[in-house]
Amino acid sequence: MINEEQKRILIEGAKIGTLPSNVPCPVGCRFCYECHLEKIFPNIKSEFIPKYEKESFDFFKKESERNKKPMKPGFFLAVKDGKIYSRNFCDFFSLGLDRGQIEDVIQNNKRYGIKRSFYTTGLNVDPDLILYLTNKYKEDFRLWISLMTFDDELKKKLVQNWTSSDDIKKIIKSSYNPQIMLFYISYNQVINDLRIINDINIGECEIAISQLHYNKFHPEWIKNLVMSNIGDFSKFVFYLSAHPKEFGNIYDRLCFISPSGAFAWKFREDLKDLLKGYFLDGKDLILCSHSAYKVLRSICGGDVKIEAVSDIYCGSNDFTTPITSKEIFSAIQDYLKKDDSIKRVFVPSTMWAIEDKFDMNCMTIDSVRKEFPSLEIIKVMIPPKMLKSNLSLKDCIEYYNFLDKDNIVLGRTR
Ligand code: SF4
Repeated sequence: MINEEQKRILIEGAKIGTLPSNVPCPVGCRFCYECHLEKIFPNIKSEFIPKYEKESFDFFKKESERNKKPMKPGFFLAVKDGKIYSRNFCDFFSLGLDRGQIEDVIQNNKRYGIKRSFYTTGLNVDPDLILYLTNKYKEDFRLWISLMTFDDELKKKLVQNWTSSDDIKKIIKSSYNPQIMLFYISYNQVINDLRIINDINIGECEIAISQLHYNKFHPEWIKNLVMSNIGDFSKFVFYLSAHPKEFGNIYDRLCFISPSGAFAWKFREDLKDLLKGYFLDGKDLILCSHSAYKVLRSICGGDVKIEAVSDIYCGSNDFTTPITSKEIFSAIQDYLKKDDSIKRVFVPSTMWAIEDKFDMNCMTIDSVRKEFPSLEIIKVMIPPKMLKSNLSLKDCIEYYNFLDKDNIVLGRTR
């Protein structure tokens, strides 16, 4: 029997066309960030359905049909009464839906012309079901497979209940134009994994490669695993660039989500144009992520002050979304102690990305402005094309060449 709170979550999901997840996510990845969100950001509250029974799914389906909305699984953040309500992006095949319910979702989305990929780690998925759905719904059923690695010994450490990659190989072979997310954990692991994918010869797939990251809540062994290999990512990228034939079946299908600094490099001309209109001088301070620091330093005049700000995760990842108003307060306060000549402070809009207004602590930029009334705090609007983009192999190579050529001192301090 679903309770009133669960009904509310299902009704709200049906209004926006998002199938609420059944978090805490049952996959149990030990590197997961989702499960730490509430601990790190006290103003975030996770909303979820404990389990999809027939009653809860039928209720959601009825509400979706009444609202004429799709039932796409998806991540969602909404602000209400000074709190951020979060619905995680969970493994679709771990929601506990049966075959008929999964088909209901696909058919419903087809009706509304929604082509949304179904995210899965491959755990709890029957490869025969994937073959059946691919054959029946080909164009309307696309998988986003979080492969991580084919190295089962490593994967057993990273994912609770992982046993073997036999099924995920069958799932990849059975799916139509899948998107595959592969981890760079170490140089040898990622090259071996790419050789295996190349041999499977999937066709029109898309392979996104991301570094494995850790934060302060992850166990020490994950931190050590990440930090002992992260420096070889550039070596891996240059190896790929020098061996296109070795990965001939997938070479044109590779994209990258790391390194984060390469995004700023890729869009350096856009950033330059954005900042040009402000006529920056020695009384201006730009606050940015550690990874963007190097690129910004190279495109701004020497007298402009630039400071890199650490996010609250205190880990290996480095992007601006987890930097909150609190870190900005501290960064400005610290800067003023050594130099009080600044008049304007520039911050990227991505720090207040939720509903284009709130940070991860549910504070707005006005809270910073109130704290420093004598300073002009300017939010620089980061172009959507930069936020939605991936990196090509060429982007990564150019970025590493830039770092090497200019011998730029890394801004990262932690
Ligand atoms: S599948 Fe995603 S949400 Fe679930 S535990 Fe793994 S990383 Fe976390």
